[in-house]
Amino acid sequence: MILSTAAEAAMADHVDLRRDVLNGCPWHDVKSMLRDVGLRPTRQRMALGWILFGKGDRHLTAEMLYEEASRAKVPVSLATIYNTLHQFTEVGLLRQVAVDGSKAYFDTNASAHHHFFVEGEDELLDIPGAEVLVGKTPTPPEGYEIARVDVVVRLRRKS
Ligand SMILES: [Zn+2]
Repeated sequence: MILSTAAEAAMADHVDLRRDVLNGCPWHDVKSMLRDVGLRPTRQRMALGWILFGKGDRHLTAEMLYEEASRAKVPVSLATIYNTLHQFTEVGLLRQVAVDGSKAYFDTNASAHHHFFVEGEDELLDIPGAEVLVGKTPTPPEGYEIARVDVVVRLRRKS
């Protein structure tokens, strides 16, 4: 209960400029979204962008996107999926969230927010920004500055 309320609040909270773009013809919107960030709207980027961003805020792994692309009959290799996800992340359309060493999630909500990770169910949920207290930020090594702080709070079912 608390979780779903928190997730709803998070969604209502963040102002996303992309939303304003994504309300006409989806295909046209994805094209302008790609152009805005300087990526050529190739057929594959268009198809994957449409699958990724057409369903609101969510968290996907490369494998999940690969499955959705296959179901949507988009002929694309897993390598292309990885490349595209990393390109989208580099230009700020996606945010990468590392949960385990082996598993990276890509968040279609690129704004700053933290996550719950449900162990065993491999599910990532948004935490509203106001609900995370980060303690004293460590002093970065000489010559570095802190780019951002990502918090992943791991959950398990009460036994
Ligand atoms: Zn998120």
